[in-house]
Amino acid sequence: MIPFNRPYIAGPELAHMAAAMASGKLSGNGEFTQKCQAYFADRYRFPKPLLTTSCTDALEMAALLCGIGPGDEVILPSFTFVSTANAFALRGADLVFMDSRADHPNLDAEQIEGLITPRTKVIVPVHYAGAACDMDRILDLARPRGIRVVEDAAQAIDATYKGRPLGSLGDLAAFSFHETKNIGAGEGGMLVINNPAYAARAEILWEKGTNRGAFFRGEVDKYGWVDVGSSFLPSELTAAFLFAQAQALDEIQAKRLAIWNRYHADLQELEQAGWVERPNLPSHASCNAHMYYLVCPDGGCRQRLIGFLKARGILAVFHYQSLHQSPFYSPKYRGPALPNADRFSDCLVRLPLFAGLTEAEQGRVIDALRDFFAGPTAGPSGREAAP
Ligand SMILES: *Cc1c(COP(=O)(O)O)cnc(C)c1O
Repeated sequence: MIPFNRPYIAGPELAHMAAAMASGKLSGNGEFTQKCQAYFADRYRFPKPLLTTSCTDALEMAALLCGIGPGDEVILPSFTFVSTANAFALRGADLVFMDSRADHPNLDAEQIEGLITPRTKVIVPVHYAGAACDMDRILDLARPRGIRVVEDAAQAIDATYKGRPLGSLGDLAAFSFHETKNIGAGEGGMLVINNPAYAARAEILWEKGTNRGAFFRGEVDKYGWVDVGSSFLPSELTAAFLFAQAQALDEIQAKRLAIWNRYHADLQELEQAGWVERPNLPSHASCNAHMYYLVCPDGGCRQRLIGFLKARGILAVFHYQSLHQSPFYSPKYRGPALPNADRFSDCLVRLPLFAGLTEAEQGRVIDALRDFFAGPTAGPSGREAAP
């Protein structure tokens, strides 16, 4: 079976975890946490990165920092992971779901202005598949109105917008180090604080509502409960694992990009035949090879394709189901139809892509795709009815 994802082990993970064990400190904010944060600060010029136990946690911190409460509106795409929405729903926000672009799963920045009201507090661009949203347009709308921008950069490590690192553009940005992301620690995440107004409070929320960070730096002579907060820090074991992955980022990216580029070249013929769409990277975005997906002509074709690949021992998977159509949210949803989000929900399929995918394995995936789309019965809807 070719899995959809197989966590990649860079090599030094165990040695770093052994070093953390030998150090006598396993709880959070120790040497490896500092090393990881310094690595990302240095590599991407992030002013203040804080490791978290997940991107979900980082998004929840962001919602707290933005002071979101009942009655506040948050604009976000419907085609996204539940955590993007939950972080703000937990604070009692009204969620304003918006549509994807017709040509890309990212939110359609041209539609944001019509959704802004005096209650709008935050816009959450989700960089789907690591492809940048139109950040200039979003920031131009947000800044003069005092609206905060929280980048959901869960999939966007090492990606850029007009040459600038994703995660460095919004007031805050949340990354994921879940095992399915380019680099991971099983579970893990990072909040990047770009707006200096949030820097001090971010550290306090992170340290369970205490000024422990300032205490350890010798800035205060005792520490105590100064604000709300929670347990957002990962343990040193997680940070030690992640540090090995971070140091191998260039090697991992090179492998992933080679796989992405081969899919894109070899599957061009399927797109030219009109059978399927390949990822359409906006011109302002770089490719970080987080994901390779295809968009089928309809949901039936997508299901047949997933079944066909499975019978060939290949696990390809669909992705988000529009949140405005979800069991939890659809009874509350009062907005318009979001046809592009629904189309990507129904028609998008993700192919196996991980740093350890072999050339032979990828060849099998590509051959199976060619066979499916050339086949008389398994192809797009309509063709199977032909005599
Ligand atoms: C993976 C992902 C998350 C959640 O990340 P966790 O680290 O698993 O909490 C949030 N948003 C998007 C867009 C994601 O892809």
